[in-house]
This record gives sequence, C-alpha cells and structure tokens, in this order.
Amino acid sequence: MEIEVIRSHRRRRTISARFADGIMYIYAPVGISDEKLAEVTRNFKRRFERQKLKKELKIKENLNEVVRRLNEKYFGGKLKIESTKYAVNQHKRFGSCNHRKGTIRISYRLAKMPQWVRDYVIVHEMAHIIQPNHSKSFWDIVSRYKLAERARGYLMAKGFEPEAESDIEEVQ
Ligand SMILES: [Zn+2]
Repeated sequence: MEIEVIRSHRRRRTISARFADGIMYIYAPVGISDEKLAEVTRNFKRRFERQKLKKELKIKENLNEVVRRLNEKYFGGKLKIESTKYAVNQHKRFGSCNHRKGTIRISYRLAKMPQWVRDYVIVHEMAHIIQPNHSKSFWDIVSRYKLAERARGYLMAKGFEPEAESDIEEVQ
C-alpha cells in the first residue's frame, strides 16, 4: 500500500486519513513526531486493510451456498441456518456459532486455506446447532465429515485455538 503524508500548519492535533486509488493519504500536523506518525499510520493501514478484506470476502464466494451443499450432504438438508459470514476479527478462533439464532461466523483466515479445511469448520459450527457443546454426541456428528481429524490438526498447526467452549455463543 502506498502512503503519502501531507503535513499541514493549520492542523494542530487531528490526524485523518483518506484512501483513494490505492494510495493512503495521511493528513497530519507539522509538529507531529515520527514515532506518533508511524503509530497512527500503522493503525490506519490496519483499518483500511480490514475494510478491503471485508469487501473481497463478500465478493469471493457465497458462503450460504456452501452451507446449503454441506447441509444436504451431512445433515439431510434439515438444519436451519440463518446466515453464514466471514468474520474479519476472528484471528485465533476458527469459527463461532450462535445456535439459538442459527448464525455462523468463520474466520477470514479460512478463505485462504484449502476448501476441505474450511468445510470442516463449517460442519463443526453447523453441528453446534444440534449440539451446543463439545460432547461425545457432538463429535459423533462431526465425524460424518471424513477429514475432520486431519482438518483439526491443520488448524492447530496454523495457530488456531483448539476448540474449548469458545466457539459457542450463549446469547440469552
Ligand atoms: Zn466447537
């Protein structure tokens, strides 16, 4: 990402940024220290990259279609899933499920991993709609997906948290 810093005498404290045509313009006061400027630039960059990623993921594929296929194959098409989306703030958690609302979120990092790994995570979260826990009954359902064990190893090697209770959201 190209960065252009524009220093202005009129600015005293405020720093702002604008992104246009692949260039990030940063407007800063003249007196700002290099350290502060570097920090602010990093933050703006992160924010813009996150926005960009969000857009790309939206365009890339329709996760609802993937879920429809997996629902047919592993759950006889019976699960009621409200929505499935990538989450751009899930770095360590591979997915999450709100079993009451029927909503599934999966880490944006999975978009760049092999499809069989991503599908495992979706099947895992879908199984939580039936079993909102990590009991034996839960794993029995997950094991319908043949590559489950391999996928778990893969995810752990990539630094994802092995599922504790952390991927089950309890909302009211
Ligand atoms: Zn889980």
